[in-house]
Amino acid sequence: MTDADPHWLSGTRGALRPPPHLSLSEWADKHYHLSPESAAEPGRWRTLPYQREVMDCVTDPAVERITWWKSARIGATLSIITNTIGYHIHHDPCPVLLVQPTQEDAERYSKEGFAPMVRDCPSLTGLIRERRGKSAAQTLCHKTYPGGILSIVGAHSARGFRSTSRRVVIFDEVDGYPPTAGAEGDQIKLGTTRTDYYADRKIIHVSTPTIEGISRIKPLFYQGDQRRYHVPCPHCGHRDFMVFSKQEDGGHWMQWPEGQPEHAYFVCSAGGCVIRHKDKHKMVTEGAWVAAAPFRGHASFHLWAAYSFSPNATWGQLAQEFVDAKDNPEELKTFVNTVLGETWQDRGEAPDWEQLYARREQYKVGTVPEGAHFLTEGVDVQIDRFEIETVGWGLDKQSWSIERTVIMGEPDAHGKHIKTPATWRKLAAHFNLTYPAADGRQFPVALTAIDAGNETQAVYNFCRRYPMSRVIAVRGVGTERTIVGLPSPVDVMNSGKRHQRGYKVWPVGVNVAKTELYGWLRLPIVPDGEPCPEGYCHFPEQHGVEYFKQLTSEHLIPVKKRSGHVRREWRVVPGMNDRNHGLDCRVYARAAASVYGLDRHIPRDDEAPPPAQGAPPQATAEAQQPREPAPAPRKQRPKKENWITSGRGKGGFLGGRRR
Ligand SMILES: [Zn+2]
Repeated sequence: MTDADPHWLSGTRGALRPPPHLSLSEWADKHYHLSPESAAEPGRWRTLPYQREVMDCVTDPAVERITWWKSARIGATLSIITNTIGYHIHHDPCPVLLVQPTQEDAERYSKEGFAPMVRDCPSLTGLIRERRGKSAAQTLCHKTYPGGILSIVGAHSARGFRSTSRRVVIFDEVDGYPPTAGAEGDQIKLGTTRTDYYADRKIIHVSTPTIEGISRIKPLFYQGDQRRYHVPCPHCGHRDFMVFSKQEDGGHWMQWPEGQPEHAYFVCSAGGCVIRHKDKHKMVTEGAWVAAAPFRGHASFHLWAAYSFSPNATWGQLAQEFVDAKDNPEELKTFVNTVLGETWQDRGEAPDWEQLYARREQYKVGTVPEGAHFLTEGVDVQIDRFEIETVGWGLDKQSWSIERTVIMGEPDAHGKHIKTPATWRKLAAHFNLTYPAADGRQFPVALTAIDAGNETQAVYNFCRRYPMSRVIAVRGVGTERTIVGLPSPVDVMNSGKRHQRGYKVWPVGVNVAKTELYGWLRLPIVPDGEPCPEGYCHFPEQHGVEYFKQLTSEHLIPVKKRSGHVRREWRVVPGMNDRNHGLDCRVYARAAASVYGLDRHIPRDDEAPPPAQGAPPQATAEAQQPREPAPAPRKQRPKKENWITSGRGKGGFLGGRRR
C-alpha cells in the first residue's frame, strides 16, 4: 500500500497500519496541483523555501497552534489552507472546520479554492463524490469524504460553530471577522472549543493585518514563538530578517537612490553591504525561520512581500508602490497592510481644524453641490437635543457637508431643555426635508442613521416606524473591524430568545470610521480645477469655527490596560469635552452611506454620474406621525440610481453585505 492509495482507511479498518508519514510540504509537492483559477502558472505545486516550515508545522505533532501574520503575494492561502484541507481529505482524513470572514467568503472559497483543487488533484478527485441515496453528502459549504467532513463557515454565523467536533480548525483572514458571532461571542474561542476532544488538534490562524489596536493576527503572533525569516547577506554572510525601513532592533533594510525606486536594494544590517535584487532568490533559498520567543506549542510566523518570488513583487516594484501611495493615507494604509504585512498605525493626532476652516468652499449650506449623488444623515441623541449632520456623497467617496442641524428639546418650567414627544415629531418632520441642487433638482436624504447608544429603547421605537431602507438605528462598537457590521436583532420574545425577524440595530465600527475620516481630513488642499483624491471632504463657507473644532475633537492616544499592555484608544481632545457630537454625527452619516452602498461601488474612470432624481422618498411611517407641515412637496420615490444599486447583493437591500 502506498500513500497514493487513499483507501487505506476504508475496507479493512481493523487492520490499519498508520499511514506512511508525509509532511504537509512533501504531500503538497507530490499531490497538489495548482488550478488556473488560483495561480498564474497552473500545474504541479512547488513549496517555496519560506513556506516549507510553516506548512510542516501542520503535520508536526509538537505543534498545536500555528499563526501566520502575513502580507499578500506570498502564497499563504494556497500553502497552508488549501493544502491542509487536501492533506486531511487524502492522507490523514479527519473532520476540518474552515472559518472565513463572511458567508459570501465561505461560498467563494468553496467555489474558487476548494472545487478547482478537487478537480485538478487526481488524488482528491475520487474522494469527494455524490453518493447514491446520500444526496446531502456534498453541499456548497459541507463536503464529506471517507473518514471526515469539511465545513466552511462565515465568522458571523453562530450556527456554523455549533457543529460537532473538529480536529483541525483553520481561521482565515481573522482581521476581517466581525466582532462576535451573533450573540455567542468570539469566533476564535468558539471555533477552538470545537477541537477540545482531540489530543492531536491543530488550530491555524492566517491573516493580513488591519489597524493597530483592532488587529487580531498581530497579538496572536506575539502569543506564539515569533519566527521571522532570516536570510544571509550575499557579501558577508550575516543573517538577519528583512525590513522596509531601518529599525533599531535590526533587519536588512530597503533603500533606493533618490527618485529611483525601481532600483531599490537592501542594506546589510551588519556591514552596510548593498544587496541587489538579483541575489534575492539565492538568499531566500538559503534562509531559515528564527524564533524570538520560546516554543510552547504555538508556532507563529511573520512574512512580508520582499521575500516573495512572485514576478510582481520585485523590490523595485514594491518601492514604486510605496512612492505611489505615500501621499494618500488610504493608499498608504493598503500598502502597509498588504505589502509590508504590518498593522496600520494612525498618527493619532487630530487633523488641524484651522486648515480645514481655511479651505471652505463656495457653496451654500443646505444646497447640494455638483458631484454629490446622494445624501445621508447621522443623528446624535443627547438628553436635551438631537444633533444632525446631512452629508452628500459622490464618486471616490468624496463628501460634502450639506448642513448641521440641532433640534433642541422643549424648555421645562425651570428653563431646562428636555426632549418631549414634540421634539421627536420635529425630528420626524426633519426627515421630510429635501435639499436643492443648483439646477433645481431636489435631493431627499437617502438614509438616516440614528445613534441608539443613549435612550436605546426610545430610539428603537422611533426607528421601527420607518423602513430600514430609510432610517436605521446604529450603535457604536469599538471592536467592530469594518465601518458597519451585520445588524443584530434587538427584540426579546417571551421564550427569552431574540426575535430573529424583529427590529435590528447596526453596529458601527467607530474606530475604523474615525481613522478613515481623519485620513481624509489630512489630505492636502486640492487646487481649483484639479481632481480630488478619494475621500476628499468639502465644506461650505458658512460653517463656523465650532463645526471644525467638533469634527476634529478626538485623538488616538496610548492607554495602559490593567493587563499591562498598551492599547491606543480614541479620546476627546482636552477642552472639547461634550463637544465631540459633530464627529459622532459625521461617523453615523458615514455608516449610513456604507449601508446605502458607498463601499460596494467601485467607480470606473469613464463612469458618468447618474442623473439624480429629485424627490423625497415616500415615508411609510408618516401615517403614524402627527402631521407637521412638510417644507418640501412630496413627489414619487426616486427611481433607484444605477450606479449605487449595481453593487447590491441578490438579497435586496439588507441582503447585500458591504465588504
Ligand atoms: Zn553584509
